[in-house]
Amino acid sequence: MERSSIPIKFVLLPRFLHNYNTNNNRMNQTKYIFVTGGVTSSLGKGIIAASLAKLLQARGYRTTIQKFDPYLNVDPGTLNPYEHGECYVTDDGAETDLDLGHYERFLNVPTSQANNVTTGRIYLSVIEKERRGEFLGKTVQVVPHITNEIKERIQLLGNSGDYDIVITEIGGTVGDIESLPYIESVRQLVWDLGEHNAIVIHLTLIPYLAAAGELKTKPTQHSVKTLMESGIKADILVCRTEHELSEELRNKLALFCNVKREAVIQSIDASTIYEVPSLMLEEGLDVVALKKLDLPKKAAPDLKNWNTFLRRLKNPKHTVNIGLVGKYVEMQDCYKSILEAFIHAGAANETKVNVISIHSEHIDQSNIQEKFSSLDGILVAPGFGERGIEGKIDAVRYARENKVPFFGICLGMQMAIIEYSRNVLGYADANSTEMNEHTAHPVVNLMEEQKTITDKGGTMRLGAWKCDIKKDSLAYKIYGKETISERHRHRYEYNSKYVAQLENAGLIASGVNPDTGLVEIIEIEDHPFFIGVQYHPEYKSTVANPHPIFVNFVAAAVQSKKNNIK
Ligand code: GLN
Repeated sequence: MERSSIPIKFVLLPRFLHNYNTNNNRMNQTKYIFVTGGVTSSLGKGIIAASLAKLLQARGYRTTIQKFDPYLNVDPGTLNPYEHGECYVTDDGAETDLDLGHYERFLNVPTSQANNVTTGRIYLSVIEKERRGEFLGKTVQVVPHITNEIKERIQLLGNSGDYDIVITEIGGTVGDIESLPYIESVRQLVWDLGEHNAIVIHLTLIPYLAAAGELKTKPTQHSVKTLMESGIKADILVCRTEHELSEELRNKLALFCNVKREAVIQSIDASTIYEVPSLMLEEGLDVVALKKLDLPKKAAPDLKNWNTFLRRLKNPKHTVNIGLVGKYVEMQDCYKSILEAFIHAGAANETKVNVISIHSEHIDQSNIQEKFSSLDGILVAPGFGERGIEGKIDAVRYARENKVPFFGICLGMQMAIIEYSRNVLGYADANSTEMNEHTAHPVVNLMEEQKTITDKGGTMRLGAWKCDIKKDSLAYKIYGKETISERHRHRYEYNSKYVAQLENAGLIASGVNPDTGLVEIIEIEDHPFFIGVQYHPEYKSTVANPHPIFVNFVAAAVQSKKNNIK
C-alpha cells in the first residue's frame, strides 16, 4: 500500500504542523530524546537514560523516561524472572521492565503503565482496533498502523503537558529485526517534530582487545551506519568502555560516525551505577543534549543530596551480612529492586551491606547452622510455586528461634505464617494452597476474587493499596504513621480464618487493608526485629527516599552484630 493512500484520520498530525496551526511558538513544545543501543545488549541504556534524566531534572527540567520493549509479551508479568529479570510494578498496577525501577530510583518520580510499552501491547491494540472496524476496510500494516501506534504512545506522556523533556529508551540493539518498527517510528518522529525538538543518543561499545592492547571503534562505526541505513543520524554517541578514550580516538569516532567532537561521550565502567550521573556531568552529556534541543542550560545541576548519598555509600562505618533466601539467586537481575533498596538503606546507615545469596533449594536442617551462622539478618524473598519453599520455611524458623533480624517479602511473609502455624501452633501440614491444595490448614489461600480467574496476564492483585498500621507495633515505629500505601503483586493472602488464632499465639497482624480487611503486615513481639509484608516495599525505595523497612532492617542487623560480638 502506498503511504499516500493512508486516510488522514489515521495519520498522526505532525507536531510541527500543529504548532504552525496555533502560534508557531515552540516554547511549549515537549522535547524528545531517544536512546538506542548498538553493538551488543546489556550496555546499560536504562542507567544512561536515568543518569541523563537525573541531570536534566537537577537543572530544573521536568523530565520523564519511558521504555519501549520489542518483545511480543503484552507485559513482562508472565515472564519467568530468569528470562528478563525482575518484574517491576508501578502504583497504577502495571507489570513492567526493571529499567522503570532505575528511573524511579534515580528521579524519585513515580512511573506508570504509560512508561513501558511492548510490541505485544502495540499489536494487541492495533488488532483490537482492526476487529472494531476502525481502519475502515483498509489493509492493516506495520507501516503505517503499527508505527503510528508506536508514535502515538511515544508522545502520550509528552502530550500530557507534565514534562519538558521525555526520554525514550528503545529496547534491543539496532539491526535487530524486531526493533525495526521502533527505529522507523523514531525516524518519522524526528522528522515530524523537527530540528531541535527530538534528538537521538546512540549507546555503543568500544571493546578493548587485550592482545592488541587497543580500543576498537569499528563495531561502533558499523552500528552508526546501520542506524543511518534506517534514516537516523545519531546526534550523540555514548561510548561504553573499560578504558579511557584518548583524544585521538574521540576525534576518530566523531569523524567516522558523523557527530560533533563534543557529542562523543565516554561512559567508563563505574564502581556503582549511582556514580554514572556525575560521570555524565563531567563528560557534558546534559549540556550537549540541551544544546542540541536548543534549551538553556539553566542553573548547574543541584546534586547535593545525591552526592551526600554517594559519600555515605562509599565510606561505610559498619559492615553486615544479610542472607537473601530465594530461588532465583543465580541471576542478580531477578532481585534487582531488593538489592538496590539495600544499597539505599546501607548508605542511610553508613553500612556496607553484603547481600549473601542463599538458594532456598539447598537449605535443610543439616546445613542451616553452617550456612546461616555468619548472617546478621535474613530476608526471605518473593516468589511463585513450590520449588524451594521448605528451605524458606527453615530460614524463617532459624531467624525466629535464633533472634536474627528477619524480613519477609510477599511469599516471604506467607512462609513466616506457615512456619509459625507449623512450629508454634503445631499444625504440621499448614501450607499455602499455592503449594498444597489439599492441606488441612490452608493458612495462606487464594483470594475469593482470584478463584474465578483463568488468564495469567495482569490478573494478580497489583499496584498500590492502602494499609492501616496498629500503633505500638514495629511497623508503626518504622513508618511513623498510621496509613501507608504500598505496591502489591500476588494472588494468595493470609487466610482470615487463622488470623485471631495466630495472633493469640504471638504472631501479630500489625497492618490491615482498611477496605478489605486483608492482613498486609505481620510481626512477632518477642523478637528484636521480625516483620513480614504482603506487599513489595523494594519497589518504592529510591536514593532520595530509602525505604524505611529496609533502613530499619539494616539498622537491626548492625545492632544484632554488635550484640553478638559483645
Ligand atoms: N506466590 C505468592 C502469591 O501469588 C507470592 C507472590 C510474590 O511473592 N510476589 O501470592
